[in-house]
Amino acid sequence: MTLKERDKKHLWHPLTQHKLHPDAIAITKAKDCILTDENGNEYIDAIASWYTCMYGHCNDYITSRVSNQMQQLDQVVFSGFTHEPAIKLSEALIEILPENQNKLFFSDNGSSSVEIGIKMALQYHFNRGEKRNTLIAFEDGFHGDTFGAMSVSGLSVYNGPFADFFLNVKRIPTPNGKNLQTIITSLENIIGHNKVAGFVYEPLVQGAAAMSMHCAADLDEILKFCKKHSIITVADEVMTGFGKTGKYFASLHLESKPDVMCLSKALTGGLLPMALTTCSQDIYDAFYSDDLSKGLFHGHTYSANPLACTAALASIDLLKSETIQANIKTIIKSHEAFGQKIAQHHKVKSIRQTGIIFALDLDIKMERYGNLRDKLFNFFMNKGVFLRPLGNTIYIQAPYTIAEKQLNKVYEVIEDALEIL
Ligand SMILES: *Cc1c(COP(=O)(O)O)cnc(C)c1O
Repeated sequence: MTLKERDKKHLWHPLTQHKLHPDAIAITKAKDCILTDENGNEYIDAIASWYTCMYGHCNDYITSRVSNQMQQLDQVVFSGFTHEPAIKLSEALIEILPENQNKLFFSDNGSSSVEIGIKMALQYHFNRGEKRNTLIAFEDGFHGDTFGAMSVSGLSVYNGPFADFFLNVKRIPTPNGKNLQTIITSLENIIGHNKVAGFVYEPLVQGAAAMSMHCAADLDEILKFCKKHSIITVADEVMTGFGKTGKYFASLHLESKPDVMCLSKALTGGLLPMALTTCSQDIYDAFYSDDLSKGLFHGHTYSANPLACTAALASIDLLKSETIQANIKTIIKSHEAFGQKIAQHHKVKSIRQTGIIFALDLDIKMERYGNLRDKLFNFFMNKGVFLRPLGNTIYIQAPYTIAEKQLNKVYEVIEDALEIL
């Protein structure tokens, strides 16, 4: 039996309606930008396996560092204990994070990092004797699949069964360059009628909202409004972190620094699951007390796993290296050139780019959306490129190590796909 057949017996895949999508592709090997399936077919991983493996799969530098760490210390409780990989990682991150970030709290996935950010915002006010029970979020954001994270995400058909159990959330539109005044009026209205604890947002690029991009200057105004009203700003950089936007973090494009930041995905270069919620000293101080109950009583078994910390440390070394920084600049330029070329195509409605994230919207009538995603996905896979269209959007978020020839192939298959629509 093939792996594909054996898979169907017992496995339940994430975000999958198995009746409609019964088959999973069995991957047996990944190296640099290439995934190989059980039949020996090769695919360029043009979305870095959900934006994680930014330094290429099975990166030799990362795997050798982790392999050494495995001989030394595998796992230890992080309550009451500490270790060098976590300490070194905190030092390395503080150097590249926005300058107001000063404390790091570990977890092991992006949704949990957001959950912790929400708890920090709520308990910050609670500890200071002020009960604030409402959160603000963007209309079509995505922050993960746990309850807090779902609550601050945009309303979607997938959340239907749970919507009755969500936290109190008020939603505002993302700034599009023309609606800032409307947003500010809406914010004033929200704070007039609610006690707002925090604002959770994806800065500059909203991943699941089909790589929707917004204006930094207007986001800055929203953040300034929040600061003025002591609303804790929680930047979800789970996707945008670690170089994707051309800077180490999307928040570095903004004047106003977030109080709290959520990190995961590329944090460990895709080798191991880990997440972090970082915050300013001011947030931390609200929890620092002689009173036990003012602490942040949240913890995951695998918090600060030493192997994951080591993978993250090696990844940050790579991110800061001249080679990767040069690669990022090259990819940005290539995307710009491709964008200029493809924007003229009559089947392309619009293009957009932030750093190495490139997206194009197809000019397709809604009634033809039906199986568009599947059709495109299968077309790309048959041509040896792993792209995962969202609605009528095709986007690229390839590893920083992608070769020029591979990137050109990605562009080519996108151009070819326009011909079959
Ligand atoms: C992926 C993602 C999450 C959720 O992270 P998981 O590790 O999948 O739980 C949260 N926020 C953003 C912006 C993401 O892209």
